[in-house]
Amino acid sequence: MNSRPDEAVRSAPSPASAPFIPYGRQHIDDADVQAVVEVLGSKYLTTGPAVDAFEEDFAEATGSAHAVSVANGTVALHALYAALGLGHGDEIVVPAITFVATANAAVYLGATPVFADVDPSTALMDAESVRERIGPRTRAVVSVDFAGQPCDYDALTRVCDEAGVVLVADACHALGGAWKGRPVGSLTYASTFSLHPVKHITSAEGGMITTDDAEFAAHLKVLRNHGIRSTFRERAEGNTWEYDMSELGFNYRLSDVHAALGRSQLRKLPEFVERRRQVAARYREAFAGHPDVVPLDEAPGATGSYHLFMVRIPAQRKAEVFEAMRGANIGVNVHYQPVYLHSYYRREFGFSEGLCPVAEEAYEELLTLPMYPQMTDEDVDRVAGTLIRTLDAG
Ligand SMILES: *Cc1c(COP(=O)(O)O)cnc(C)c1O
Repeated sequence: MNSRPDEAVRSAPSPASAPFIPYGRQHIDDADVQAVVEVLGSKYLTTGPAVDAFEEDFAEATGSAHAVSVANGTVALHALYAALGLGHGDEIVVPAITFVATANAAVYLGATPVFADVDPSTALMDAESVRERIGPRTRAVVSVDFAGQPCDYDALTRVCDEAGVVLVADACHALGGAWKGRPVGSLTYASTFSLHPVKHITSAEGGMITTDDAEFAAHLKVLRNHGIRSTFRERAEGNTWEYDMSELGFNYRLSDVHAALGRSQLRKLPEFVERRRQVAARYREAFAGHPDVVPLDEAPGATGSYHLFMVRIPAQRKAEVFEAMRGANIGVNVHYQPVYLHSYYRREFGFSEGLCPVAEEAYEELLTLPMYPQMTDEDVDRVAGTLIRTLDAG
């Protein structure tokens, strides 16, 4: 455990018989199991007190006044965009490099995603590209803290303020991160999170929207409950059957069973993030000075929470390296193809190559290395050593 990474890295064996190291995985402990079991024996399995408690704790953890839980991170984006009033003919600026859901949720509402290019050193949305993409139909700009690195919120906020456009965050990669000491979740008008097992904490499936605007949070709670203002529990406890559906909403509620798991997991967020940062530091030390392995930067002002650890490697060797790593039982991955190059977006919106050249070049080179809190130093050394040996052998 105490050996210097460079020595350990070069000697770490990685035969195909070594145990599989996935690119990410959840960690569930006895306290999590206990929390779920308790709710299963309680009066409410959904819209109950576990949901309220989780939302309160989540708001506190993200430095936000309000947190609204929903069924997953994708519907968090859909509900957020719906609450912003996004509709047919509207445009929304999103980064080229993100999970498809960031853009898809706007398409659900009949809006058109407009893709901004990224910065080559971080692969994060570039504020100057955002400035160029904002037009008369732009209703919102959505930042994505790709891989867990907070974007440059000074630059993005300035561009959006000047244009009079609201800035919101798809922060699904960056729970537990910070920008200049301010927690992710409190950096824009509203932020969305995913609680999928591969993310920082999990409720199996789940999502959250944070905001400081009390009215906006209240509206989100109506939207997640079919457009109905009162919940089943409120009607039961108020001895009334009456309710009014005042607008078209959805059933995007998170159950108390999921909320109990999420709340128990949230208690471990600081230690999870600390270990992710240790893993990142060990990777960086192992790759320092290697000409062919260039990790994405942690920008000045950013405290990354490392949902992913991303490196750039020579594009012409990527397929061979990917195959060698998988052959050594290391679950490397690739995040993400520029969204507009998916066949759906080419066909339905007419997008093609050349729209965001920096993102397209980054995609050719980016490789995702395993990153999760239960990784041991030996696991990290095995991953780094296998990558370095593969590249050096070529
Ligand atoms: C995970 C993720 C989502 C979607 O979250 P789900 O909970 O899987 O629906 C959206 N955006 C980004 C950037 C994500 O990483």
